[in-house]
Amino acid sequence: MKKQLLLCRENGLRITSTLKQTLNLLENAAVPMSLAELEEKITSCNQSTVYRSVQRLKKIGVIKQLNFAEQGTKFALATREDNDDFLICKACGKVEALDSPSPLNDLKNRLMQKTGFRGLSHELEFYGVCPQCV
Ligand SMILES: [Zn+2]
Repeated sequence: MKKQLLLCRENGLRITSTLKQTLNLLENAAVPMSLAELEEKITSCNQSTVYRSVQRLKKIGVIKQLNFAEQGTKFALATREDNDDFLICKACGKVEALDSPSPLNDLKNRLMQKTGFRGLSHELEFYGVCPQCV
């Protein structure tokens, strides 16, 4: 979390306990979290404070917003580059991160060589039915 806090300081954000809790929760979450889930876990302040802290972290790129077709908006630490692949259960809504490194990394490298693009990132969502729901 030190790296994220440094980035916050560099960008002039005040390191509040809400901000720290938000980062901490996202860092330890196995899967991306929705704003509602964050608000539920951070009880030391009101929901609009959590919302503002999420927006600030998003603005400076410490966390990123993922837009799932059925799950809606979720947030994850932006530094977890290899965890952009998700399995999503259409029945119960469970979101599982695929093992890193991403199977798409090879493709990414090939694309960079071929096109000259740099800093490629991707978001991949597989929809299906999880073992518990089959
Ligand atoms: Zn399921």
